Amino acid sequence: MSWAETAGTGIEDGGILRSLGALLLLVSTPPFTIALWSIFVQHQGSVTSFGLYLSDSANWRPFLASLPTVSWEAAYNIAAFGAFEAILQLAVPGKEFLGPISPKGNRPVYKANGVECYFLTLVAFFLCWKYAVFDPARVYDQFGEILNILNIFGNALCLFLTFKGKYFPSSTDSGSTGSFLFDYFWGTELYPRIGKSFDIKQWTNCRMGLMGWSILPLCFLAKQVEQTGKASNSMVICCVLMNIYIFKFFLWETGYFCTMDIAHDRAGFYLCWGCLVWVPSVYTSPALHLVHHPIDLSPACAGTITALGVLMIYINWAADEQRKIFRSTGGKAKVWGREPKYITAKYKTGKGETKTSLLLLSGWWGIARHFHYIPEILASFFWTAPALFTYAMPYFYVAYLTILLFDRAYRDDARCAAKYGKYWEAYKDHVPYKVVPFVL
Ligand code: NDP
Repeated sequence: MSWAETAGTGIEDGGILRSLGALLLLVSTPPFTIALWSIFVQHQGSVTSFGLYLSDSANWRPFLASLPTVSWEAAYNIAAFGAFEAILQLAVPGKEFLGPISPKGNRPVYKANGVECYFLTLVAFFLCWKYAVFDPARVYDQFGEILNILNIFGNALCLFLTFKGKYFPSSTDSGSTGSFLFDYFWGTELYPRIGKSFDIKQWTNCRMGLMGWSILPLCFLAKQVEQTGKASNSMVICCVLMNIYIFKFFLWETGYFCTMDIAHDRAGFYLCWGCLVWVPSVYTSPALHLVHHPIDLSPACAGTITALGVLMIYINWAADEQRKIFRSTGGKAKVWGREPKYITAKYKTGKGETKTSLLLLSGWWGIARHFHYIPEILASFFWTAPALFTYAMPYFYVAYLTILLFDRAYRDDARCAAKYGKYWEAYKDHVPYKVVPFVL
């Protein structure tokens, strides 16, 4: 059986348990994003206050009445941001980048213009703020409405993608599990495009999700300034570390085109709704929490948290970049000053062609098979730590990310084992730990 016939296709088995799991996530996650908004905005980040309030049935009616609805202003802001990012994605020049060979043997082409688009977005944001074209503090006021509209748009897009993949796919890398529910959840297409060059996954994941994540904390900072007359250093550290992380992401965006999100996971609710709604709701939440908690840290504490946060972002980037350079030079570049050790692994595409990939055994990739997830988790801890430890809720993203990445390490191991067979077993013999050296 070839890789394309197994987990490598990304068309996961839509068995009853998986379908039930998908249904549970489909119905629970959109209201969860609004509950999270309520905890941070209406209950100042206290899950106890939120729980106690709802434990009294007399509060249910006023609670429902207090929930956000939709507004033209919020819809306009999202439409303007989405259109601006789409125009940048298409119009800003960049080198052509060839994505990895898909299970069906296709090779998507991208434009590598992430860093330019990131800086243009920040410049446009600050100019619009300075010249009062829009008030970023209003984004905080409208955040509940924004999440509602993103939820509606995200689900509509997933419906469109389900049918597009079935009836007019952009490439042969599309297919159905036979279950509409699971197709909607998981997606039908690997590389959906509008026309030849507008890549929908690049737009939802990188340009809406990640770019939105860079801007929203700055809007929350603007709200804190409006409320208190200044930005606390905890808010500044949180925004700066998140933005260094996002800059690092765009510096490595072409590497992202070779990861599981793009090369394996399909464009459905899990990925596209996740990037359009879950990212703005959950990933930005430490900064949302800080709006009502203008903590000023001592210079020593602020400096230590910032330095450790930057170090973790650097290690995570260095590991991703090491693998990217290693692969792009065909194993010729030195790793930590030495000739790298590696395995030349063979696998079969869906067309039955035999291809090879190099698996690095040195550097960060020799410590554990997914060691780079550790600095990713710690970076998120350090941009949350300025909120200190009075409330648990700001750490929700850290906890969620830890579960996500450990699950991802298992999924990726299973995918690579199916793809590479005995070569993956040989990699495991050299590097026995999945994530944490000597532990797991
Ligand atoms: P990974 O970086 O874990 O890449 C996995 C792929 O890399 C494998 O499927 C395999 O692909 C290839 N690979 C595995 N081992 C080796 C090796 N030894 N040498 C060469 N190639 C190898 O992908 P992720 O998408 O999980 O992570 C990418 C980045 O995104 C990380 O920095 C991660 O921390 C971050 N991330 C952040 C998330 C968030 O929500 N904040 C969520 C997920 C990831 P192939 O088929 O090409 O061989």
